[in-house]
Amino acid sequence: MALKQFKAESKRLLDLMINSIYTNKEIFLREIISNASDAIDKLHFISLTDGEAARDFAIRIEADKATRTLTVSDNGIGMSESELEANLGTIAKSGTLDFKRKEAETAESLIGQFGVGFYSCFMVAEEVVVISRKYGESEAHKWSSKGAGGYSIEPAEREECGTTVALKLKADGDEKYSDYLEEYTIRRLVTHYSDYIRYPITMEVEREKTTEDGKPDGKEVVVETLNSMVPVWKRKKGEVTDEEYNSFYSDKFAAYEPPAKIITANMEGAVTYTALLFVPSAPPYDYYTKNFKRGLQLYSSGVLIMDTCEKLLPDYLGFMRGVVDSSDLSLNISREMLQHD
Ligand code: ADP
Ligand code: MG
Repeated sequence: MALKQFKAESKRLLDLMINSIYTNKEIFLREIISNASDAIDKLHFISLTDGEAARDFAIRIEADKATRTLTVSDNGIGMSESELEANLGTIAKSGTLDFKRKEAETAESLIGQFGVGFYSCFMVAEEVVVISRKYGESEAHKWSSKGAGGYSIEPAEREECGTTVALKLKADGDEKYSDYLEEYTIRRLVTHYSDYIRYPITMEVEREKTTEDGKPDGKEVVVETLNSMVPVWKRKKGEVTDEEYNSFYSDKFAAYEPPAKIITANMEGAVTYTALLFVPSAPPYDYYTKNFKRGLQLYSSGVLIMDTCEKLLPDYLGFMRGVVDSSDLSLNISREMLQHD
């Protein structure tokens, strides 16, 4: 097993990637989950055309405190040895973008495009191990890397097709990386960034059991789905009740009173987008303070890009709340900003 070196420029690029592209370390989970979702989308697409039986697609998260390892597995299309080499050994190489180009008509739900998101995991991990088995192949391979030092690829075992990404978290220091192993944090990150990923994101959690008459009865492990999958704004207006709109509004925007008015819009044209807007029934409590952030939440293909995008609202409508979702935004590389659309 030969240790291969990143080329000198790539090493610097990787360093840049890891340390300066993202303002927020926690987005690594969004990136890894988005890749898993893309991988499942691709297999889903292939199984539609191959006449393969549908399978139970899912993204599984596992946190092992003993080994400080956070694992994200999918049962998507997987990667062959040469794809591991090409996609994870070449910065800015996006297998997903290639796929999108080939399968243009169906692939609009795919999230990846820049070929850098994966490396964001080195912001929080000292070592990353990826075990992958490509759909239709019997062999699996393991890609592992400690970041700028290089990576290696060797044969491995995996029961079914798909990919497992294991992140050995960095030691705690100024930053408490072990937080990413806490159920609470994982839940928060998934619902914040990846709530509308179209496949279930599951995790085993320990729950207190109770007997029939409500007495404590030890603990049990249950598998829970963390994401809600279908955003209310993607459902047909007639199928969503006012209550559902209201509870979405109060959860999302921490409002106590139901909104005075709900506005939905579906645009298809030069830019395709869906918008769900709310006129609050009272001004936000901090509306007249400097802390108030005007703007709408911006999603791209169901993945949260910006919490408050000011440019989506004229100043005089600053009190409005809502979300805008579009799959054809030109994002900058960190997917944190728009490029003047
Ligand atoms: P992007 O998602 O923008 O293409 P990434 O750096 O996140 O870039 O990933 C690079 C490439 O690695 C992807 O385009 C995809 O081809 C491959 N890849 C990453 N994660 C997975 C996965 N879980 N399953 C299959 N392929 C993956
Ligand atoms: Mg990606």
